[in-house]
Amino acid sequence: MPPAENDLLRNIPSVDKLLSEPAISNLVQQSSRAFVVGLLRRVLDSFRQRISGRIAKDTGSVEPLESIVASVQAEFARLSVPRLCRVINATGVLLHTNFGRAPLGQKALEHLGEVAANYSNLEFDLDGGRRGSRDVFADRLLRQLLGCERAIVVNNCAAALFLALNSLADGGEVIISRGELIEIGDSFRIPDILRKSGAVLKEVGTTNRTRLADYAQAISERTRLILRVHPSNFRIVGFSCRPALDELAALARERSLPLMEDVGGGCLIDLQNFGIHDEPNPSDSLQSGVSLVCFSGDKLLGGPQAGILAGSANLVEVIRANPLFRALRVDKLTLPVLESTLISHLTGTAAQDIPLLQMLNQPAAVIGQRARAIAAQLSVPGSVQLRIIDGQSMIGGGCTPDRVVPTQLLAFSGGEPSPARLEAQLRCGRPPIACRLENNCLLLDLRTVVPEDDKLVAGAIQRVLRAS
Ligand SMILES: *Cc1c(COP(=O)(O)O)cnc(C)c1O
Repeated sequence: MPPAENDLLRNIPSVDKLLSEPAISNLVQQSSRAFVVGLLRRVLDSFRQRISGRIAKDTGSVEPLESIVASVQAEFARLSVPRLCRVINATGVLLHTNFGRAPLGQKALEHLGEVAANYSNLEFDLDGGRRGSRDVFADRLLRQLLGCERAIVVNNCAAALFLALNSLADGGEVIISRGELIEIGDSFRIPDILRKSGAVLKEVGTTNRTRLADYAQAISERTRLILRVHPSNFRIVGFSCRPALDELAALARERSLPLMEDVGGGCLIDLQNFGIHDEPNPSDSLQSGVSLVCFSGDKLLGGPQAGILAGSANLVEVIRANPLFRALRVDKLTLPVLESTLISHLTGTAAQDIPLLQMLNQPAAVIGQRARAIAAQLSVPGSVQLRIIDGQSMIGGGCTPDRVVPTQLLAFSGGEPSPARLEAQLRCGRPPIACRLENNCLLLDLRTVVPEDDKLVAGAIQRVLRAS
């Protein structure tokens, strides 16, 4: 080893010496000695390697103490601060899968806090003084809301579909229209889920047209289930058809087969006022004679991630008895949030309690006023153009792009900072603000921003504009 390198290594401060540095003992106070000692060892190791690799040689001396302390501080911040953080969603996409879909309301969070921070009756029957079931909390409410005989809850809608198929059709055939073999996104494909469940896919009809007779002809002694899937995220228009749900239900009943529908969004509210007419309601599906529905908790229901299975008691009991139910069940964090969300729907206070619906209900004119109030606070550089324009908020969450609601947008275009730069800086801010970049225009839709955050948005935009 060359002497110079030897000297450099010898001069690296010891762990004990570093621990007596005020900046480092400060970190110990915020965490623990063991954690900080671990960080120190790692940082010192990497300095030793750099010296041996002669990367640090051109400094001509050992890494200064401050540089080691700074590295330890950076490493401390990297590991001790959560990465999962709030994002201000100014995209106007209400159920943005990238941003956690439906935000939760105050009532649901209070209920969650109360239940999760304490012991609870999660699996205890208080009246009887004996072991109870966690199934009861959602079941009693879903029976009322949907008019079903029985309901259970699992991790998400994908899990609900998988569990139902595995419970009811493992080793048998499931009949499904070719027009419904969809991909929901991020590797959730109906044919793949079906195969993994152990069921055999029996496709009928064509991509655009499937008739009742196609189903009828495909039924055999191997058939276990007819599956209907809401093609949430795309639409077949033009020369297309599929049987009405009640016709399909009548056929299933006649042949003593269960008809299951994956409804997807789980819309329990009337979206007619928003010009959205054909979003299926699981309660209507059950009314039409479907024996079993599944839908998500965090789409149009506006609650937590969950998959709800509801329908006839005997089918739901078979699914409940599948040992895989245990692997897919929900925990004490999900159940209180879901319970509160369902109570809001049942008692008719959903529009007030559920943020998704509050946001959806805001008239475009009110959103425009908020946008103008923000614009009035900004001093915009001469080269940047700021306008308030008409636009559209999207439902998102696997709904088709034509599920839109009119809104008004803050639109930045032109010069310096460029819309792309503005977008990047807002996205990388604290808290991050997500916007839309379209046709060289930066668009902010306040529909998906709570009004209390308007000030914060204005401040963030102003900082970015000023810094440029
Ligand atoms: C969104 C969706 C799913 C998946 O729901 P998750 O709760 O995300 O698992 C399944 N089926 C349909 C029709 C959907 O729209």
